[in-house]
Amino acid sequence: MSENCIFCKIAAGTIATQLLYQDELVLAFPDIAPQAPVHVLVIPRRHIVSLELLTEADRAEMGHLLERTAHVARQLGLQAGYRTIINTNAHGGQEVFHLHLHILGGKPIGPMVAR
Ligand code: 5GP
Ligand code: ZN
Repeated sequence: MSENCIFCKIAAGTIATQLLYQDELVLAFPDIAPQAPVHVLVIPRRHIVSLELLTEADRAEMGHLLERTAHVARQLGLQAGYRTIINTNAHGGQEVFHLHLHILGGKPIGPMVAR
């Protein structure tokens, strides 16, 4: 738990959020400012600042995060497809420095455009 981290507070339950999925390692909840009809964030409970800091020790947890992301997308009925995004550090446009994976779907998202 990192103080002043909004996602740690959501994981700890101190900020009430609709949880779409949770287990001992990860949770999923709607993005507060959705960019698509379905916009969900999947995060590890553990405070990992960014993808850039991952090491071999994180492999099992990250494998679980990715597999549970597929599970959540399935539960949300996104079998037609969706986009997953991880923004990393300043050049990646990361705004919340607790690792998270975006699921965007509910309509064709279109080609990826780097701006
Ligand atoms: P990033 O740019 O870091 O990849 O994305 C951070 C995301 O977190 C943004 O899409 C933003 O809307 C979302 N976000 C920021 N604060 C909150 C919050 O308090 N609750 C929820 N559910 N989402 C948040
Ligand atoms: Zn955190």
